[in-house]
Amino acid sequence: MNTENAMTNAKQFASDVIIGLEIHVQLNTKTKLFCGCSTQGSEEPNTRTCDVCLGFPGSKPVLNKAALDAGLRLALALGCTISPKLIFSRKSYFYPDLAKNYQISQHELPLGAGGKLALNDGTLVHITRAHLEEDPASLIHQGSAGQGYVLIDYNRSGNPLCEIVTAPDMRGAEQAREFLNRLVSVLEYLEIFDLGSCIIKADANVSIAESGYIRAEIKNITGFKEIERALTFEVERQKLAVQRGERLVQETRGWDPAAGVTSALRLKETEADYGYILDPDLVSVDITNNMVKDAQANLPELPAAKTKRFVEQYQVKFEDAMILAAERSLAHLFETVAKKFDSSFAVRWLRHELSAVLNAKQTTWSAAGLDERLLLELFELVQSRTVTDLTARDLLQKLFERPFSPKEYVAKHKLASISDRGELEKIAKKIVDENPQAAEDVKSGESKALNFLIGKVMHQTKGKADAGVARQLIMKILER
Ligand SMILES: [Zn+2]
Repeated sequence: MNTENAMTNAKQFASDVIIGLEIHVQLNTKTKLFCGCSTQGSEEPNTRTCDVCLGFPGSKPVLNKAALDAGLRLALALGCTISPKLIFSRKSYFYPDLAKNYQISQHELPLGAGGKLALNDGTLVHITRAHLEEDPASLIHQGSAGQGYVLIDYNRSGNPLCEIVTAPDMRGAEQAREFLNRLVSVLEYLEIFDLGSCIIKADANVSIAESGYIRAEIKNITGFKEIERALTFEVERQKLAVQRGERLVQETRGWDPAAGVTSALRLKETEADYGYILDPDLVSVDITNNMVKDAQANLPELPAAKTKRFVEQYQVKFEDAMILAAERSLAHLFETVAKKFDSSFAVRWLRHELSAVLNAKQTTWSAAGLDERLLLELFELVQSRTVTDLTARDLLQKLFERPFSPKEYVAKHKLASISDRGELEKIAKKIVDENPQAAEDVKSGESKALNFLIGKVMHQTKGKADAGVARQLIMKILER
């Protein structure tokens, strides 16, 4: 089959892909889910541990209230109905990362159920459940595969996770990525997740119509980019297998980021294999109506609501509003700038200029950690036309390399725009005289030549001239 046919086929079947996600989000509590060990601090292996998170017989887990609060806020933000009781179960399986051979999780009654998160195109991704569970230890593989050995670090063991299970509502890897972006946005707003240090992991169910929707579950994909890559690969793999006449089987697959492929691990486990039993060490906790009401009342305005408000209140385009509202601190900065200057100025300098700098540096506004006041100082220079846009753009870049006061910097390096029209006219005259051919071309209506002369003026003034004024002056000189 040629490429063109393959692409036509891929498009034709694009709507027949079904993806569901199980996402594990690490909540940013100070201590672990069932003991007082710290979730952060020393990276020296096995130093943040105790009898509970090492799974010693006779040790007794005690629920961390902060983890419940964080989980409750997340479940509510996703529109879930909250269970009136919080109960934990033991999920039994044997794996070296689980010292007690079971993981404390929630099975029968998840903390939240029946929520949803809307995507840009109106697709609703239903949240089947959101529950709390403990993280297992981490395995550190030593030596080459097959002849090496494994070290176990229990520092991670017992970290609080919230697992979010979606219905199979996503129609491709792109929608899955958008869902994750939306979810991380909500997590950031709730301040229960640190994008820098906390990890997002996913298991994904993928199936296609041509196979009769026989699902493959891809386990343990870590990080955003990998999730999208793994899903894109798996969809293609299934399509090609069916085209070759293979019969797909329900199975669990692993993702190898280095090779960029998924491969079969084992036939799918069923829930019965986990032998869930209620954990007798943990008493059930009542989640009262008042607790739910309080948590609901304390939720911040969430990204979707903020996007809508930006469109209505500031007449911002929906796409711009969505990007500005995706990050809580950026949204706050937008409102500050829109109120101090105006909203189109704010969109231009934050949504376009600032975003471009942040994207190039692969960071976000909050992660970049720049003092907001320095940015406002720069914007004042732009607004008062003390500096040209060209100079401002250059200063914006520099601010993220090493912070400084834009006002002082402009004074020190004499970067103020040339406001003296007479001085600028002299420069323009000189440029026109030095470039007679371009001047002739402008006279015969060549806009390229005009841009060339404006460029020369900008170069001569090191970007301190207003391009619009330079244009006027050149035209004036040539009309004489
Ligand atoms: Zn512990």
